[in-house]
Parts: sequence; C-alpha cells; structure tokens
Amino acid sequence: MRRRDPLSEAINMLRQDFPGKSRSWIRRAILRLGDVRELKSGLYLVEGRRELGDWKPLYQVWFSEREGKWYCTCYFSHFGFARQRDICTHVAAVMLYRRYKKALEKAERRRVYVAEGEVECRGRLSANGELYAKPAVERLDLTFYASPKYKILVVSDVKRIVVKCNGLEVLELEGEEVPLATAKFLVERWHGR
Ligand SMILES: [Zn+2]
Repeated sequence: MRRRDPLSEAINMLRQDFPGKSRSWIRRAILRLGDVRELKSGLYLVEGRRELGDWKPLYQVWFSEREGKWYCTCYFSHFGFARQRDICTHVAAVMLYRRYKKALEKAERRRVYVAEGEVECRGRLSANGELYAKPAVERLDLTFYASPKYKILVVSDVKRIVVKCNGLEVLELEGEEVPLATAKFLVERWHGR
C-alpha cells in the first residue's frame, strides 16, 4: 500500500533516464514543472523564469519524430541558428511533466484488495497491508477487556490477506479487488466520516 507518490515516482524516473545529469538540472526541472503547458502531445510551452537565467517569457518545446529528439526555442539564436547544446531544463521540465502525468494515470488505475473481518486480540494487531481496527462493541465494558474483539478493515496489494496478533496469524481473508479510489472511500466510511 505504501508507495511513492506520483511526483516522487516521476522525479525518480527522470533521474534514472538521465543518470549523468546534475542535481541542479533535476532541481530546475522540478521548479519548472508548474510552468509547463501542453498544447498537444509532443508540443509544449514553458514559461520563462528570470531567476533561472531565461531571457524570454515563453519557450516552445517540441519533439521531432523524424529526428527522434526534443527541441527547445532556446536552442536557436536570434538569427535562427541552432546552437549546439545539452538538453535544456525547459525540455527536462517537459520530460518530467510527461512522466508525472503517466505516474498519475497509473495511480488512478491502480487496484487493491479490501477485506473486512472480526478478530480477537490482546496485544498488537498487524496485517500484510494497511490495517484499520476498532472495538467490535459499542461500549468498552469489562467483557471487552476480558476478550477484546475488533472489527478490522485491511487494504492490501495482495489478494490473500493475513491478520496477525502479536506476530501470530489469527485470521486469513480473501480480499475483494477494487480501484484505489474505492478503497479510500471504504476507509473513510469505516472511520465514520
Ligand atoms: Zn530550452
């Protein structure tokens, strides 16, 4: 259940794709992320930032299918001559934007397993996923303390959900596959919100 959030995942993907790039290159790409506007797939506008050394209010970034590479208007001089240069951080920002968008879509499509049950445990409950537990009785009286029963909800990445009490398996449940958004809704309802 615990995974990188989509932005961290996108930053990580960019780092892996460009292992030779400096921390500052990555940092500038992150700073520019909010300045990217997608016109269509393969064509973007990136707002200039004076503090990052930009001299234009807007840069156009596009992908040349023919050459299989990215271009930015900052690669060209006032006279239209292409300058030989490294991948600029406008292009880096677009690459980050695309990876972020993909990571967000993947997170939305993600499916998890949810199971509810009841378990008795005097001690620490755990499970192979996110575990939510509350007393199975309305009022905490002596009966509860004598044999503490809990209602549990588990959200897991795996179908076979195992609940443990003090490290010992006490319950096995078959999870129901649902989209992550549904699982979040079930958890909120579980908390009585
Ligand atoms: Zn550029």
